[in-house]
Amino acid sequence: MCGLPTETDEDVLEIAGMAHDVIRAGREAAGHKDVRCTVSIGGFVPKPHTPFQWAAQASPETIDNRLRKLRAAINANKSLGRSVGMRYHDGEPSMVEGLLSRGDRRVGAVIEAVWRGGGRFDGWSEHFSFARWMAAADEVFGADGPIDVAWYTTRERDGDEVLPWDHLDSGLDKQWLWDDWQDALGEFEQDDCRWTPCFDCGVCSNLGTDIQVGPTGRQLLPLAPK
Ligand code: SF4
Repeated sequence: MCGLPTETDEDVLEIAGMAHDVIRAGREAAGHKDVRCTVSIGGFVPKPHTPFQWAAQASPETIDNRLRKLRAAINANKSLGRSVGMRYHDGEPSMVEGLLSRGDRRVGAVIEAVWRGGGRFDGWSEHFSFARWMAAADEVFGADGPIDVAWYTTRERDGDEVLPWDHLDSGLDKQWLWDDWQDALGEFEQDDCRWTPCFDCGVCSNLGTDIQVGPTGRQLLPLAPK
């Protein structure tokens, strides 16, 4: 993923170092240089019912810029870089995904306008037209209206904003999600509740779920992130 909240260029460039390490380890284990790995990376899209539902999505320019820098960092080491493939989407499709992801009922009219304008099979890059989506958004929202695509995507929400999906119950407590979002901003890493006491996120009590831990008594996974 690229474009997570609080992410910096340096965070993404660490991926280049990791890919180089993978090639080094692969060559050492194989005893020859003919090994390859692929960095497969996409722009992060904040989703409803998650702690990032309030987050600002990174702009296409930020995503494209970081991915360009990552490609350059991978290639900076010629010997290792030529063994690393890179698969990614540029930032524009992520903007449309972000619009659909956190849109309200007004976005329905944008989808219809895209369809009326000839949009089909947009999940296939050869059919995707970012310009068609933006033109449809302008048509529905008005070029100088109070809302636009950025309002739905790259805008951070306040804690007291009523979200379009608030009336849908996923079991998670909204206050818990907000606290988790604040923890994320504070770089506090939450443990996995399968192996620690319950954090009372609301899912088990609201959905009648019983978390069961295996009966072996042995520790199967790390109890805390390393
Ligand atoms: S045990 Fe259930 S209610 Fe507790 S934090 Fe985990 S998922 Fe949420």
